[in-house]
Amino acid sequence: MRTAIVVGSGAGGAAVAKELQGRFDVLVLEAGREFRPFVLSLRVPERLKRLGLLFDERHIRLLFPSMRIRKTGEGMVLVRGIGTGGTTTMATGNALRLDQGLKALGIDLDEEFSELGREVPISTAHQARWNETTRRLFAVFEEMGLAPAPMPKMRRRESCGNCGRCVLGCPSGAKWDSREFLREAMERGARLVTDCRVREVVLEKGRAVGVSAKVGSRRKFFPADVVVLAAGGFETPVILQSSGIPCEPGLFVDPVLCVAAPWDNALQNKEVPMAFAADRGRFILSPYFDYLSYFFNKDWPPGAGNILSLMIKLADAPSGTVRDGRVEKALTPEDTAAIKSAVDVCVDILGRMGIEKRDLFFGTLNAGHPGGMLPLTGEDTKTLRPRRLPENLFLADATLLPEALGKPPILTIMALAKKVAKVIRRDLAD
Ligand SMILES: Cc1cc2nc3c(=O)[nH]c(=O)nc-3n(C[C@H](O)[C@H](O)[C@H](O)COP(=O)(O)OP(=O)(O)OC[C@H]3O[C@@H](n4cnc5c(N)ncnc54)[C@H](O)[C@@H]3O)c2cc1C
Ligand code: SF4
Repeated sequence: MRTAIVVGSGAGGAAVAKELQGRFDVLVLEAGREFRPFVLSLRVPERLKRLGLLFDERHIRLLFPSMRIRKTGEGMVLVRGIGTGGTTTMATGNALRLDQGLKALGIDLDEEFSELGREVPISTAHQARWNETTRRLFAVFEEMGLAPAPMPKMRRRESCGNCGRCVLGCPSGAKWDSREFLREAMERGARLVTDCRVREVVLEKGRAVGVSAKVGSRRKFFPADVVVLAAGGFETPVILQSSGIPCEPGLFVDPVLCVAAPWDNALQNKEVPMAFAADRGRFILSPYFDYLSYFFNKDWPPGAGNILSLMIKLADAPSGTVRDGRVEKALTPEDTAAIKSAVDVCVDILGRMGIEKRDLFFGTLNAGHPGGMLPLTGEDTKTLRPRRLPENLFLADATLLPEALGKPPILTIMALAKKVAKVIRRDLAD
């Protein structure tokens, strides 16, 4: 059987590995280690915050090694997961179908979304357990004509304790993440090497012959018949560039800004995050307790249960780049104007909750939906492979997306990754 190397075990990588194993001998190479949720009591970071010892978001890895943060020159905090399950392990479990841009190119993912509907537990059943704050906010959104909709969540209701810690990794296993696909692939024979950072794809005579990686501190070559890169929107471009394959300066990240206020017993920190959302075109609005801002932003007062916070998530312009491993991403004037108009709506919502404008404070601008640096075009609909790639080198992550979604991308990335795997099986399996 031919060997397929899959780089990364997040949304795209795990979906591809599951689809390919059996028709290929799959080897998953993962830069991180086995994922572990943040198990400490929140009293620990709260105490550190009160002592003024938490001042740089990059220190989060000391408390929670699977979460990695870097900052752009403008100070935007970029979040990603490293380890089995990639960034899906710290997702809030939102599951939306967002393939309009791909459909416009002529890529039909109906079959793949149907499969995912059978494979992943998705529901809005959490609505029955919303706390008082969420219910009041939902009513205000409705009263303002913002058309809020309960968020479909990838999780098993019976084992979810509504602890609100989804972004810190689910302690009960109720939340679905891509480790479940990875496990299925491994049960059918796929192999996994962790602590294995792929540096480049080795190309010979216009074909990929394997990858060069660092396993621990040692350099190693892994031969392959097919290589699939799914290292995420920040890392896949780095591997491509190191392999001599240029990318496009089209990085988007879906920036997030929270608008918050003191509110006794809001208890958003103990509520399912992003319980509902209102889609306003360029941005969505959603209730969200922002742990990163709470831990690291001095404007956020101690007392997690007494903060009410709304998230603005923006579909930003594809204007950034990753160069020599450094991310360059600034908001365009249009992005900034869209965020300003979203802030105005938040001020209105919080005003209707009885909160004075002078009491508001902002979260730290952050982002965790990178992609777009080698997008599919209308010419790639049959191969699902950007033309500049050799015929046995594929991508299966958000790098392929033609535009910022401004909304949760996991389900769409997995549907696309499944389709990529089907093309590989059709064209390259024995
Ligand atoms: C806090 C947070 C909450 C989120 N919540 C949601 C949500 O509720 N719903 C939603 O749809 N989206 C959510 N997202 C976004 C979503 O998690 C990501 O967009 C998605 O996981 C990206 O999938 P991917 O396959 O492109 O990359 P990832 O899931 O990031 O996977 C990439 C994998 O590649 C590995 N890797 C990286 N470099 C290398 C290398 N050189 N060699 C080998 N392996 C490598 C990484 O360790 C990782 O395992 C959230 C993001 C964040 C930050
Ligand atoms: S709310 Fe808590 S128990 Fe429920 S899915 Fe999120 S982390 Fe898991």
